[in-house]
Amino acid sequence: QSIERYAVVTGANKGIGFETVRQLAASGVTVLLTARNEKRGTEAVSVLHGHGLLNVLYHQLDVQDPQSIEDLANFIQTQFGRLDILVNNAGATGVVVDEDGLRALNIDPASWLSGKATNIVQGVIKTTYDKAKECLDTNYYGVKNVIRALLPLLQRSTSGARIVNVSSLRGELWRIPNEQRRKELGDVESLSEKKIDGFVEKFLEDLSNDELEANGWSKMLPAYSVSKAMLNAYTRVLGKTYPEMCINCVHPGYVDTDLNWHTGTMTLEEGAQGSVMLALLPQGGPSGCYFDRTQVAEF
Ligand code: NDP
Repeated sequence: QSIERYAVVTGANKGIGFETVRQLAASGVTVLLTARNEKRGTEAVSVLHGHGLLNVLYHQLDVQDPQSIEDLANFIQTQFGRLDILVNNAGATGVVVDEDGLRALNIDPASWLSGKATNIVQGVIKTTYDKAKECLDTNYYGVKNVIRALLPLLQRSTSGARIVNVSSLRGELWRIPNEQRRKELGDVESLSEKKIDGFVEKFLEDLSNDELEANGWSKMLPAYSVSKAMLNAYTRVLGKTYPEMCINCVHPGYVDTDLNWHTGTMTLEEGAQGSVMLALLPQGGPSGCYFDRTQVAEF
């Protein structure tokens, strides 16, 4: 008889996170489906209970809210005493859709936003400082804060802890226009959390001074790209720091979800495969690596 395993998936009320919970629960793991919104979260759990997956439980988690993170950690401590799997899946895009821009192109914003789009219309997606900040606070600082709070519980795992950071190909190093930054982020020996935080703060400063292009940041989804590049770098630092765990990051594929206004081409089942594989890695599996779906890839 194998030992019971406990998992947390963040941002799991819909999309890839929801499907990740479904697949993990179907393989016998007890999963805490977390969501920032209680109604959306409990409804998602009800759907899975309807499929007979009674080993799924709801807990509130807003990864931007330190109190919410602490409450989750206390709940896990009391209920399970340990954690085996953490999937940091919650994500934000860092952009707003310019609805007037859509109208000017004779596109009805309501139908476009509700997912009847077939492509992302160039020029109608805009980065604002607030959205960029929200994106970094969710995709980078949110992940770090959740890991920091849950680490003592993961260290008590009896089956070897697994952390999966859901990233994106937007964070791949070759996409970073600034050569010096690309080199520094690729040099795992000299990388540190502090150094990575420094890049994030410099990005926000350049954004507020309207100097993104001049300072070599990506033009396409700049905040999102930075958040995922920094998440990847942080994953490598963690992998080195905690060799007893398997800590990896993954690009899920281009998946049909709300995040990309349903322009993605892959199904949720396909999109969750990488996260699930990394969550269930056997002892001695890879760590500190980046995966393109289920295959190891270059950072
Ligand atoms: P969805 O928009 O379908 O889901 C995103 C989830 O994150 C939602 O549950 C959302 O909750 C949640 N979330 C956002 N902010 C917070 C927060 N502060 N606290 C807790 N939860 C939060 O997107 P996907 O399923 O596509 O995205 C999942 C992950 O996959 C993301 O990290 C994304 O960057 C990554 N990814 C996706 C790709 C794709 O093609 N879809 C490609 C590459 C990477 P709510 O419903 O309350 O907003």
